[in-house]
Amino acid sequence: MSRFANQIAVVTGGGRGIGQEIARTLAAEGARVAVVSRSASSCGKAADEINAEYPGSATAYAVDVADHEAVQELAKKIGEELGAVSILVNNAGVTRDTLLMRMKEEDWDTVLDTNLKGAFNTVKAFMRPMMKAEDARIINIASVIGLIGNAGQANYSASKAGLIGFTKAVARELAGRAVTCNAVAPGFITTDMTDELPQAVKDAVIGKIPLGSFGTTKDIAAAVAFIASKEARYITGQVIAVDGGMTM
Ligand code: NDP
Repeated sequence: MSRFANQIAVVTGGGRGIGQEIARTLAAEGARVAVVSRSASSCGKAADEINAEYPGSATAYAVDVADHEAVQELAKKIGEELGAVSILVNNAGVTRDTLLMRMKEEDWDTVLDTNLKGAFNTVKAFMRPMMKAEDARIINIASVIGLIGNAGQANYSASKAGLIGFTKAVARELAGRAVTCNAVAPGFITTDMTDELPQAVKDAVIGKIPLGSFGTTKDIAAAVAFIASKEARYITGQVIAVDGGMTM
């Protein structure tokens, strides 16, 4: 199946975890993918792994999505090197978990700057070619924590709830140009981010998931690939929870 033949996709946070799997899945179906992450070693390794399976499909770009100027430069570079982007996946995200009493200003700023302002930066930078494409997709990776909140994650919850609001506003603004904008809200997915959780916390979380386990990066990538596809042209402004039933 080549659902994304001749398409250029950008996946932020593509160096590891969910983002790497999204990039791999889009490449598997014909997209040329810009794999963006903070460190050159991370996106370089991810792109090498994807190219080993799908030769010539992935190019690495080390950029901090929180840096507005750097993201503008990135968009210019990708436009010159790969061509017009028609799929943008805002997946880069970080946590700085701690109770509000102990949360420092920098914990707040780092999380909001990456998870929320990062998406603003990329959408601003890539929206012109996407509007010209007239059938483009923006997909923001939010979180169930942006829907239900979580103690110890005030910064992260706010960033993901903000991302959901941003998704709906962008969906309305760009609908006239046939650019859709949706959010995928993962539940608990096995990655480096959740590996950090203590086993007791993991056990407690699993007790709240009707399907009885953490999800996999493939579960998220499959949902993203569907929303990125032409078949999903009539879906916009939605939040699709992929969470084992946690937030039904
Ligand atoms: P990981 O921590 O495994 O990977 C995060 C990726 O984001 C890395 O490639 C990292 O780059 C990149 N990144 C972080 N900050 C920046 C930045 N400022 N600029 C560019 N790239 C950056 O995360 P996950 O795969 O677990 O999560 C991916 C997304 O899914 C996040 O938005 C997260 O909030 C969301 N999510 C995850 C859940 C889970 O259970 N894992 C649940 C719900 C949502 P580098 O490799 O260079 O460090």
